[in-house]
Amino acid sequence: MLSALFHRSAASAADFSHLRQASVELRNVIKQYDAHTVLNGVNLSVEPGEVVTILGPSGSGKSTLIRLINQLESLSGGEIFIDGKPISQLRGAALRQLRSRIGFVFQQFNLYAHLTALSNIALALEYVHGWNKTEAEHRALELLEKVGLAEKANAYAAQLSGGQQQRVAIARALASSPQIILFDEPTSALDPEMIGEVLQVMKNLAHSGITMIVVTHEMHFAREIADRVVFIDGGDILEVAAPEDFFTRPQHPRTQRFLKKVL
Ligand code: ADP
Ligand code: MG
Repeated sequence: MLSALFHRSAASAADFSHLRQASVELRNVIKQYDAHTVLNGVNLSVEPGEVVTILGPSGSGKSTLIRLINQLESLSGGEIFIDGKPISQLRGAALRQLRSRIGFVFQQFNLYAHLTALSNIALALEYVHGWNKTEAEHRALELLEKVGLAEKANAYAAQLSGGQQQRVAIARALASSPQIILFDEPTSALDPEMIGEVLQVMKNLAHSGITMIVVTHEMHFAREIADRVVFIDGGDILEVAAPEDFFTRPQHPRTQRFLKKVL
């Protein structure tokens, strides 16, 4: 019954077409932690509105790569350009403005457990973006509708399932109408039966206009939604290909070995 409700509301409310888009370019990106080099000079261009999935073994540098894009980590070398503008030197208000253009969805949903679904979204708009309460709550409800959770607006985050919490987190990431959304293994912390509902929301979002970069271990999902698949290992991008080519004709021996293990 509940799942029927979700499917109906998700199908009718999944219009994300208001979202804008921006390009992302990594040029010779290097990241070191002390003596440990985690990214060895990575180059990647993501077109406005493109959906790119990033695959690779644990510890290969996937999280580091996407955390650099919204400057949750600072670069050790190279540069990242958003819509052609370098971001590494941004500080203060300019950095906050950059971050408001980039949504981020974490593996752990990071909601405030003691706040309602609605407040988790509305408070970000009020305190980070300066919206008034009425506007913020109106917008939050719209976003909850888009992820099929309008009926949970007043439930506390702690009362929601993992899948529902992650859908609220996606709605929150979309609150400031970002041009880019980054996902870092958004379904890895979920029980298997909840993965589908989160992937469905992400599918609705893909090709809505927003630029989307997704680190995932969900191979079928990556194949289905990506314009291009990126394979990273040991801090190097080893392969970038259209999904069909990537999964049926991987070129690099390490990609081939990785796919043998996970498929
Ligand atoms: P992935 O997301 O692909 O699993 P990460 O980007 O999280 O990989 O990590 C890549 C490498 O960087 C790992 O060896 C990890 O231990 C190291 N690393 C990540 N974050 C830090 C940090 N804050 N300090 C030191 N080393 C880190
Ligand atoms: Mg990671």
